[in-house]
This record gives sequence, structure tokens and C-alpha cells, in this order.
Amino acid sequence: MRYVTFEHQGRLRPGYLDGNRVGAIDCGTLLEYIALPLERRAERHRPESYALADVSLAAPVRPNKNIFCVGRNYLDHALEGARATGRDLNLPDVPTFFTKAPTAIANPEATLEFSSRVSHEYDFEAELAVVIGARVKNVSEEHALGAVFGYTCFNDITARDLQRAHVQWFKGKSLDSAAPIGPWIVPAGEIGDAQNLSIALRVNGVEKQHSSTARMIFSLPVLIAELSKGMTLEPGDVIATGTPEGVGFARTPPEFLKDGDEVEVEIEKIGILRNRIRII
Ligand code: MG
Repeated sequence: MRYVTFEHQGRLRPGYLDGNRVGAIDCGTLLEYIALPLERRAERHRPESYALADVSLAAPVRPNKNIFCVGRNYLDHALEGARATGRDLNLPDVPTFFTKAPTAIANPEATLEFSSRVSHEYDFEAELAVVIGARVKNVSEEHALGAVFGYTCFNDITARDLQRAHVQWFKGKSLDSAAPIGPWIVPAGEIGDAQNLSIALRVNGVEKQHSSTARMIFSLPVLIAELSKGMTLEPGDVIATGTPEGVGFARTPPEFLKDGDEVEVEIEKIGILRNRIRII
């Protein structure tokens, strides 16, 4: 099963992929569906379906709040960042959480439009995104994965010059279209071990990042447990779990996204999130 949000005749609807057809779900949004108790979900699946070719896929979820993100969660990425900035490695004892504004969310296959007047350093970051499926607070590491609805691909697009200038990362991470997500959510039960998936990113077909989620510094249960300490996580919340090595600013020489580039994030057992870059 792959859960989607699709556009048909100008209307956004939640649904699920069944081969090359999209089945409709009788809910206002996929967020509403995810918030239903497990035993109430199946009754919302409708028999009507559409050819995948006749619809376009939108961001599967749009949470009502910021997207949670994790900085420096792969050792080799932390190392390349330290090298590129000339700083000491200084790995944290707890995850470095930051957020992206929900207005940054962009659709799979969308052309992402950015302005050269705002930034000259648009960079890419392939990430596994966790979609929360239950309302939890102070969840233990042992029970943390039980709160996960599913997983999808995420590109934590970052304006590096703004990230540096504003010190706090929020601004450089939150430009419109800087959070493409999708193309669908694969339920946790169908992924199996989400901590052992290959993750890669390509620009114009050339591989720039290739790692495994096994190389995270803070594991998925640790991230969810830490984030939920004293803070409620809700169904539909998205946690982007950090990027591996190979990002543009740390390459020699640095590489940033250019007008016309095609960027693909591919994660094993999920699929490919593909976007075209437009810089005006
Ligand atoms: Mg990131």
C-alpha cells in the first residue's frame, strides 16, 4: 500500500495506489485519515479509482505545523560540514532539532522555483522522512516506532548563505518550495527495518549522495523519543531525519543547484522524489 494525495479535476484528495490506479479515500485530507484509529481506516477506502496517468500526485501530507528536522545525523555529513567550515566536529549528545515552515512544502514532480535575489547557494539534502501516526508524548525508545504511520522521501533544500547569515537555521531552510516531499507514504509495516535502507540523491542523473539509514548517529527510536519529551507529537507530523554526506556546499569545489537541474532523492522500498529546479 502506498498512500498519496492526488489532484483530480482541480480537487486535492487522499488516496492509495493500487497498481497503476489510485483508489479514493473518503476523508478531507490524508492528515485526517492518518488521525483515524487504525480500525476505522479501512472503512474509508472507496471502490472508485482513477488511472494514475489521469491524476497528479501532490505532497502526501501537509502538517498543520512546522516540519521537524534533525541536523548532523550522519557522521560522514557532520565530518564534511566541519571540514568545509573549518570548525571542530563537536558531535552533540542529543539530536539537533530545527524546523522548516509548512509553507515550504512542495509536491513531487513539481518545478521548484527560487530567486537568485534571495540566495546564490541553493543546496540539496536527501532525507528519510518519518510520518507520525499517533498522538504521543514522552514515548519510550522501545515504543517509539509504534507511533510511526509510515515513511517517505524528503529533500531538505537549504539556502546555505542564508543559513550562515542568520545563524539560526530556520530562515535558510524555510524558503517556499524548499521542502519537497513524497511521492507517497509507505506504511511502516511494509518497510520492515527503516534503519537499514539505502538512500541516494542524484543531480541530472549524477549521484551526489549514497548512504544507508543504518549510518544515522541518532536512530529513529531515539529521535522520536527525544522529540516527544514534554512535547506532543500528532498524527501527520513529519520528522526529516538528517542527510548523509555528499551535499553541495561541502564538495570540492562547492556545487549548488542551477536553473534547469533535476534532483532525485531515492530511498529503498519507498521510491523516487523527483523535482526540477527553476532559478529566476
Ligand atoms: Mg537536513
